[in-house]
Amino acid sequence: GYRKGGYYAARPGDRFAGGRYVAQRKLGWGNFSIVWLAYDTLQSRFVALKIQKSARDYAHAALHEIKLLSAVAKGDPMNSKCVVKLLDQFKHAGPNGQHVCLVTEFLGDSLLRLIRELGIIHTDLKPENVLLVSTINPAKDPVRSGFTPILDLSVGNQYGRTVISFSEKMLRMRARRAVAKISQRRVSLGGVLAEVEKERSLDGISLKCKIVDFGSACWADQQLSGEIQTRQYRAPEVIIGSGYSYSADLWSFACMAFELATGDLLFAPKNCQRCSEDEIASSGTHSKDYFDRYGDLKRIKRLKFWPLDRVLVERYNFTEPDAQGFADFLRPILDFTPENRPSAAQCLKHPWFN
Ligand code: ADP
Ligand code: MG
Repeated sequence: GYRKGGYYAARPGDRFAGGRYVAQRKLGWGNFSIVWLAYDTLQSRFVALKIQKSARDYAHAALHEIKLLSAVAKGDPMNSKCVVKLLDQFKHAGPNGQHVCLVTEFLGDSLLRLIRELGIIHTDLKPENVLLVSTINPAKDPVRSGFTPILDLSVGNQYGRTVISFSEKMLRMRARRAVAKISQRRVSLGGVLAEVEKERSLDGISLKCKIVDFGSACWADQQLSGEIQTRQYRAPEVIIGSGYSYSADLWSFACMAFELATGDLLFAPKNCQRCSEDEIASSGTHSKDYFDRYGDLKRIKRLKFWPLDRVLVERYNFTEPDAQGFADFLRPILDFTPENRPSAAQCLKHPWFN
């Protein structure tokens, strides 16, 4: 990773954009970037600093992400929607080349929920790209949050770092505990909300969450690549290459919802096979890899059916009404035919949510 064209090796205390941002600690990383918690000395607040790999294609992806996030910001000036807010951008020169950097609002740990905006298909919805909004403002509430910004490596650096990692651990523990409680009890959505709300009041993890990682997102009418999404969350039309739209994001959303409710992946793909169905089976550019000329699956001889509500009851100990409600909500979103899937707005109106 840390070679020519690759990641930038930052350290706590490193300064960016002429000294304005001071790196604190790593928040996470992906294939394209490493994201740091940074302290914005101009505005006295914490931000997330995404330092893209330097090779040309990565730089392009970052500029593309900036374009999409700016478009979202323009369409939603109050930042009321569930999309991460872009605050600043600049380039940073390092031994491996020039790195495009995005400064966004600092969010908390990752989880679920989606929003679809302005004709953009996210194309990579998965739990790690959905972050919970941290309600603690570390700059305003340093005692409660345990954050002490590292402004100068030579002063209080050890102390700062220790405190930060301690607080981070606590946040993670609490989030994990909330999720564990939820999946143990197989509660209804109302119960889930109450549970998370309780945890949230304890330590500043809010239920509100935002989507990050628009590096591979696209406009619905200008699709860049055929091969989108992470395999576990990939829609059937993408697998067979028959074209996709917003409804591909909804497929990923349903996979994510199942995972959050049960703790297991809905689809756990092995090497490179997957299931799909007749109608769209013959229309994709990859159809021949999956179906014979009769429209039957090539690699799976006998499909064993296990209805979703039965899975929830028999495997995950849902109560009958919870299983029915959740399965009724998920089933239409997991329709093989993309056009039959409900829109995000329709999902929100489903009784299961209310
Ligand atoms: P990539 O394009 O390399 O996958 P992402 O934008 O997904 O980069 O960021 C990588 C990881 O960094 C995320 O999965 C998340 O853990 C963390 N991260 C990204 N943005 C933020 C943010 N605004 N606040 C907190 N953590 C973040
Ligand atoms: Mg990512």
